[in-house]
Amino acid sequence: MSTVSLQKLRKTYGKIVAVEGVDLEIAEGELIVLLGPSGCGKSTTLRMVAGLEAITSGTLHIGDRDVTRLEPKDRDIAMVFQNYALYPHKTIRANMAFGLKMRGMPKDEAAQHVRDAAEMLDIVHLLDRKPGQLSGGQMQRVALGRALVRDPAIFLLDEPLSNLDAKLRARMREEIAMLQRRIGKAMLYVTHDQTEAMTLASRIVIMRDGIVQQIGSPLEVYDRPANAFVAGFIGSPEMNIMEGAVADGRLSLGGDIVFNVPAGTASGAVTAGIRPEALRQETDGVPFEVQGIEQLGSQTLFVGMMGDHRIRAMTARRDDIALGDTIELGVDPAAIHLFDRESGERRGAAGEG
Ligand code: ADP
Repeated sequence: MSTVSLQKLRKTYGKIVAVEGVDLEIAEGELIVLLGPSGCGKSTTLRMVAGLEAITSGTLHIGDRDVTRLEPKDRDIAMVFQNYALYPHKTIRANMAFGLKMRGMPKDEAAQHVRDAAEMLDIVHLLDRKPGQLSGGQMQRVALGRALVRDPAIFLLDEPLSNLDAKLRARMREEIAMLQRRIGKAMLYVTHDQTEAMTLASRIVIMRDGIVQQIGSPLEVYDRPANAFVAGFIGSPEMNIMEGAVADGRLSLGGDIVFNVPAGTASGAVTAGIRPEALRQETDGVPFEVQGIEQLGSQTLFVGMMGDHRIRAMTARRDDIALGDTIELGVDPAAIHLFDRESGERRGAAGEG
């Protein structure tokens, strides 16, 4: 049974359509990430679930209740914001208990909830401090703790890690994933960071211009992007995307650049996508002139030209290739993504079931 159900959820501001008909069923214990570039409508979607934005049309159910028109406090949700919104003069304990007090929970019971959440987040030693005495990571944990004490049907998180430095982000990401599995509650999580989405999500909802492009597990959207936009958005380093044409089981990308595609692939103009990590050095491959080398430790990223296309190729660590070298690259035919040139939609290839 789904915990939260969004049906044709739509939001307009005058003539601006911020969110166009989102359908989504969130199961108990699922961590759903709303992902997309700035302005795609992910925050608006989250804020409609939270009750912070009125829903223009469509319905929202939490459990078996229609909460479309209910106030935030009556929805059984808890929200974690990007800015921590803590009261500076109250202790962490008082900050965490505040929402419970407002809801009329008896003091002893509230104190117990705060203790339980603090233990889960390993912040018991911080409870008597004030927000000004905490680091960014500790503040983030407190912000989570304040949501956790509420024990809601769903947690809503809007870019919760964007104020943290890269190292702390990665650590908090792991913590949120572990915490979420432990508490087994649904989470709806907004980010523009595809790495965050890939590492955290049970399923990713990829949005563009207010419209859902694809919903799938991280590997589903990585392996079978529904269109060229998703293909370019998911994966790091970014997929190489090139215009080309398929004829007789071969993909031509201009000049002498030709790759085999699975037998039976329909002919026509295409947008082709090849992930940097799918390219490999091969005798009798396509020439690639190395113009940039990034040593990442365990892997090496090459940037350079393949005919007129500027592309990226990622290999296991190599230190025997120099700037200016020309190497030859090949790719497994089944690893080439083909999209309709006009619509950008994924084309069924022979290699796909
Ligand atoms: P995201 O979170 O993906 O960056 P938003 O949900 O904030 O995107 O915004 C989606 C679209 O709605 C954008 O085009 C944005 O400009 C527009 N929008 C958001 N809030 C308002 C508002 N209060 N008034 C008018 N337009 C808005």
